[in-house]
Amino acid sequence: MSTTYNFCAGPAMLPQDVMKKAQSELLDWNGLGTSVMEISHRSKEFVELTARAESDLRELMSIPANYHVLFMHGGGRGQFSAVVNNFLGENGQALYLTSGSWSKSSVEEARKLTCDAQIDNLDIVENTNGISQVVIPQLNEIDKDYRYLHYCPNETVDGIEIFDEIDSPWPIIADMSSNIMSREIDVSKYGLIYAGAQKNIGPSGLSIVIVRDDMLNLPCLPQSSIMDYRLAVKHDSMYNTPPTFAWYLAAEVFAWLKSKGGVDRMANTNRQKAALLYDFIDSSDFYTCKVHQANRSLMNVTFYLANEELNSEFLKLATETNLVALKGHRSVGGMRASIYNAMPIEGVEALVEFMKEFAANNR
Ligand SMILES: *Cc1c(COP(=O)(O)O)cnc(C)c1O
Repeated sequence: MSTTYNFCAGPAMLPQDVMKKAQSELLDWNGLGTSVMEISHRSKEFVELTARAESDLRELMSIPANYHVLFMHGGGRGQFSAVVNNFLGENGQALYLTSGSWSKSSVEEARKLTCDAQIDNLDIVENTNGISQVVIPQLNEIDKDYRYLHYCPNETVDGIEIFDEIDSPWPIIADMSSNIMSREIDVSKYGLIYAGAQKNIGPSGLSIVIVRDDMLNLPCLPQSSIMDYRLAVKHDSMYNTPPTFAWYLAAEVFAWLKSKGGVDRMANTNRQKAALLYDFIDSSDFYTCKVHQANRSLMNVTFYLANEELNSEFLKLATETNLVALKGHRSVGGMRASIYNAMPIEGVEALVEFMKEFAANNR
């Protein structure tokens, strides 16, 4: 069997080493004679696992001591409502920057839970000659008392990434579902970071929340207990039964990342991987990328065939070559290669080879 490279945007591929380890200890974890998913989340062994997961994540992301790390339910979207319910209280206002599909969804959810007047929205993408670029306005000139500013630094669907730090007078909440731990960031610049796990961390359903302790003093709306950050902090993310198997796999991914030299090293590889693909696309008139150089995602590379009638042939042949899940999101069309941490550089090389050959054969 030749290697299959899976470019799915999410749930995405996980590191082979981690999958093999999980397979080898599926029936007998830690010498307990049972699977990790069949034991109490309050058992000594599981609690040790959670402590290791947290300390590894703190080390990988250099998370300062005044931040809590939470393992919660509900994936990325679960946090769209959680941030509103936890921080807006009655009549609190928030500013949302939109740069693509996911940040637009987060605004919709926020407006659904509040009165419209509470949520302001600034679209920060400019489109010139079909090329999208992020332009962030001077936020310090806005005279409003927002509880937080929400944005999405990596738009998974559109392939738009915001690399510049945002200069904000209000605490920043970032949806890092698809770029957490893909490159170095300064956690201390954020009030809260969240991420659904299924792109760069582990199985879907789990979400990671990194929240500065003073954020928890903001007034909250009535909300369900399992999405309440204060309760999650108080109960070490075990107010109810957490998604234990997902937590275990996340812990294994963190350990794998550390063994690979951490986020800095991973970031270097990620930049190499992305450059390989973007440079090839730019060098070819057969393929185009519609994202400005400054905002090209390191994780989700979106591109189009000049002749879109060849799309289904491209996807069919790619799949036959064991390069799978390259179809762009239905809302934007085209192609998308998601190249998260778990994608080895060989996968990207194989994709570029395939794209070259496909172009040569279809001129
Ligand atoms: C995938 C994704 C989400 C949604 O995650 P779910 O777990 O499906 O709710 C939200 N934001 C971003 C940036 C994503 O990539």
